[in-house]
Amino acid sequence: MNKFFLTVGCALLASAINAQTVTSPDGNVKVNLSISDSGQPMYSVVFGETTVIENSALGLNTTVGDFTKSLALAKSSEVSVASETYSLPNAKKQNISYTANEQTFTYSKDGKSAFDVTFHVDNNNVAFRYKVYPQRDRLACLVNSEATSYTLPSGTTTFLCPAMTPQTGFARTAPSYETFYEYDAEMGKNGHGRGFTFPAMFKVTAAQPANAKKAKNVQPGNVWVLLCETNVDGSYCGSRIENKENKYTIAYPEDKEFGGVGQCAPGIMLPGYTPWRTITLGSTLAPLAETTIMWDLVKPQYEASQTYKYGRSAWSWIIRMDASCNYDEQKEYIDFAAAMGWEYLLIDALWDSNIGYERMAELVSYAKSKNVGIYLWYNSNGYWNDAPQGPRGKLHRMNDRHKEFAWLKKVGVKGLKIDFIGSDKQQTMQMYEDILVDANDYGLEIIFHGCTLPRGWERMYPNFISCEAVRASENLSFGQHDNDIEALAATIHPVLRNAVGNMDFGGSALNKFYSKGNNRGQHRVTSDVYALATAILFQTPVQNFALAPNNITDAPAWAIDFMKSVPVEWKDVKFIDGYPGKYIILARQTKDGKWYVAGVNATKEPLKVNIPLAMFNAGQEVKLYLNDGVSTAKVSKKQSMLVTIPSNGGVVIE
Ligand code: CA
Repeated sequence: MNKFFLTVGCALLASAINAQTVTSPDGNVKVNLSISDSGQPMYSVVFGETTVIENSALGLNTTVGDFTKSLALAKSSEVSVASETYSLPNAKKQNISYTANEQTFTYSKDGKSAFDVTFHVDNNNVAFRYKVYPQRDRLACLVNSEATSYTLPSGTTTFLCPAMTPQTGFARTAPSYETFYEYDAEMGKNGHGRGFTFPAMFKVTAAQPANAKKAKNVQPGNVWVLLCETNVDGSYCGSRIENKENKYTIAYPEDKEFGGVGQCAPGIMLPGYTPWRTITLGSTLAPLAETTIMWDLVKPQYEASQTYKYGRSAWSWIIRMDASCNYDEQKEYIDFAAAMGWEYLLIDALWDSNIGYERMAELVSYAKSKNVGIYLWYNSNGYWNDAPQGPRGKLHRMNDRHKEFAWLKKVGVKGLKIDFIGSDKQQTMQMYEDILVDANDYGLEIIFHGCTLPRGWERMYPNFISCEAVRASENLSFGQHDNDIEALAATIHPVLRNAVGNMDFGGSALNKFYSKGNNRGQHRVTSDVYALATAILFQTPVQNFALAPNNITDAPAWAIDFMKSVPVEWKDVKFIDGYPGKYIILARQTKDGKWYVAGVNATKEPLKVNIPLAMFNAGQEVKLYLNDGVSTAKVSKKQSMLVTIPSNGGVVIE
């Protein structure tokens, strides 16, 4: 620490008293703190030789004080080492350990403590959060706004998802994180006028290392920057970023979210904490795809009431839509799930009227006789939008929820998919949490859909399975454009949306068309190997696959065989190669230690690529899925394999 303090101190002698640096254990990441002329705490982040976040603001404006100016650094703690080893059965990595340096800085206003900011810096992540102090006899406050900003260097390009306009879209269900990403876009835009959702990715042009030895961990080229937040529960709101002259600034939910109910400014007890703001950094995309920062900084909020089971799930709605949610077709899908050896069937909207509670109990029992567990869809509403599908009005109030959960447990349902929760307000976060907590009492797993981004929830809530929070497979059924660019999105999710949390995408269709007869509707332009590859690329512990019963006879046998044995529980993930918007190649390791390598090509041309395969032995025989077929191939002596991935096609090596 002292070495870096001196470095900064020499350069900024006059303000040395307020200048501090926190470094990562390997010394490669540096967070520099200073105070502006107006008394606003500022920070910058350096990765290797490259400044990735230029001098940017810290501070909060609260109802107990404006803590964005006239502040002084009152004290700084010693640097402490935070390290932990933990396991996570329901996320992209099972056995996780981290070591980070932590340091807390206390800022005062008028001689009284205003807030702390604690930095947690590991070799590829910077995280920080505020602790606001009581002021006189005030033990609670609203945080009206947060000054935290991220100033990216000029020339930085962006990979961002515009925030949706509240109370728009289907039945006023927005915002739900379902807009298109832009790839390598210039800075300057503010989305559709209201900023961008987390996670947000940037590509900063790296400085050429002045001293190659000192910068041994950084290759000249790009630094990838991923912004997100974690530890968001009922004690705060979810945030997004707004672009103000290339300063991306934390923004809170908008008034119209949640039907206009609930306030935008989060309220906290004092002393109280904000969520952690996270910045993941890499000279390749590997540290982004592999980061665990969103779980390192949270704790389980309760014990799992039982060992939750994960698995593959059939789902009729994606191909056959609402009309399929009837007794006979769901029975057909139970038989299909059983034939595939899958663990679950998700029965979607309108089952309450088309099947009814009594006959649903019969279906669940029939499914149990076939070793298939049932997930049931619920409308979250409620008073916040007009989504009409039933069952509705069953979950948003505690007493009703307990009655419903008791029935679900009695008939043997395993989980719920809860749809249409368009808000990031604190009141909404409290509802997400209440549903999860109560569901755990009844041993029920939860998937949220049409919803917010999970922010640490895989670890915080043991029965949490996934959130949608992505422009997911339903859009492949709704419109051709999403099909035409299907592969594009697959190249970014593993390093961005799916990197920070489980993702309920609902993909891997083997139908040529999104319709029951497989002969009309939107046309899939991706290959069958592509469908297999995304089953590996997209991660969630209960995967709702878009396969249909007809695929057993009309899809290639090798594809069906692969989907019968495809895993959904992973021990590890390794980014291998790729560029968002062009192609991606990723490896995942099963609980039993077996590796799968999967890739897709979104470019218009075939992609010739030599895939490094360090996880396989030289000369090892593997199965290679490529060009709509499967063959046996040998890993080269140099542990690699040269393949040509077709446009809109994929590769899988197992
Ligand atoms: Ca949706």
